[in-house]
Amino acid sequence: MLQDKDRIYTNLYGFESPFLEAAKKRGDWDGTAALIKKGRDWIIEEMKKSGLRGRGGAGFPTGLKWSFMPKEVIDRPHYLVINADESEPGTCKDREIMRHDPHKLIEGALLAGFAMQAHHAYIYIRGEFVHEGSEVVRAIEEAREAGLLGKNAAGSGWEFDVTLHRGAGAYICGEETALLESLEGKKGQPRNKPPFPAMAGLYSCPTTINNVETIASVPEILKRGGDWFAGLGSDEKNTGTKLFCISGHVNSPCVVEEEMGVPMKELIEKHAGGVRGGWDNLKAVIPGGSSCPLLPKEICDTIPMDFDALREAGSGLGTAGLIVMDQSTDIIYAIARLSQFYMHESCGQCTPCREGTGWLWRVMTRMVKGDADIEEIDMLLDVTKEIEGHTICALGDAAAWPIQGLMRHFRHEVEERILAYRKQAKAA
Ligand code: SF4
Repeated sequence: MLQDKDRIYTNLYGFESPFLEAAKKRGDWDGTAALIKKGRDWIIEEMKKSGLRGRGGAGFPTGLKWSFMPKEVIDRPHYLVINADESEPGTCKDREIMRHDPHKLIEGALLAGFAMQAHHAYIYIRGEFVHEGSEVVRAIEEAREAGLLGKNAAGSGWEFDVTLHRGAGAYICGEETALLESLEGKKGQPRNKPPFPAMAGLYSCPTTINNVETIASVPEILKRGGDWFAGLGSDEKNTGTKLFCISGHVNSPCVVEEEMGVPMKELIEKHAGGVRGGWDNLKAVIPGGSSCPLLPKEICDTIPMDFDALREAGSGLGTAGLIVMDQSTDIIYAIARLSQFYMHESCGQCTPCREGTGWLWRVMTRMVKGDADIEEIDMLLDVTKEIEGHTICALGDAAAWPIQGLMRHFRHEVEERILAYRKQAKAA
């Protein structure tokens, strides 16, 4: 279990003020200029040493991502863009940082911006997060007034500013290139890659896009050293602390900071008050936000919550948003509901996603009733394979994976429902 001394987010629950005076007492903005004076190579090396992997879902190593930015600023400015869209169902951690610890995010933006030679960062926030956005704006304004942003940010000699931009609430704008399109004032649709944003991102300028939790973790990592962060977690590829969001059929849904690799059972029992009706009443858990395939209880009994263990189990850490489902859950309906979500959020650019997500949803709707043929299960799986990996962005995969997880672990329930429906139809 994570010790209090190793916590990054000491005001996660908002017991203290999120603003500057209280934030400084918690250690924010302490020695920021001295960190910058160590130079950008030192910052990137420390980030690599820490082993921090992006906290937005993909888990790409942060230091490595920063190192993809051009070494010199030539004819175009560099930008840092922070993804605060947080629209993945089951995920609610970044909003806690923005509400209760916004200065960690702004200080992290300065450090990351300096490391990639950006003078400006944009925070792209989902428009519905009205309160969170207001708290971040207020924190930006007081940072400007205190000289922590501006011509000589925090006395470092580096000019830096942050702008918060509100989106209109489309799930797809959490995809990094759709986010850039939206930030430029266009329709939020993903771009083809390459070119990657580090070469041609915002306004065709070199850009790095990082998640809120990733950037907000940076100051503490640099202050304590990459080795400290790397010393936490399950192994060298799964390091540090992580914010987990636990929702669904638990007694006390919560967001909690824990060590990477904490056993799922411990996480649910110690922090979320346990599964409703006890651990044996557990049916399945979606471990990383709605796009990750579900895991049945037998796997949940022992699985550690880290990138690699969950991938090996056929799922993923994703955003670390755990959706807990007890025995009362109609698991077929639950996954059909996710199919409806992804159909609704498809931007429509590529055929397999535009047509396929609707197709999946319509077949899943029949399967909820049992009004289908057994052979259609394999046909459905075939269609998920035709969508997966054949689209511009990962929304196609996100629509395919929940169904694949359902059939991998609960195919018998789908078959039983189809047989029961047939029996009933015959009797009628
Ligand atoms: Fe749009 Fe779906 Fe294609 Fe992504 S996969 S670009 S959401 S149509």
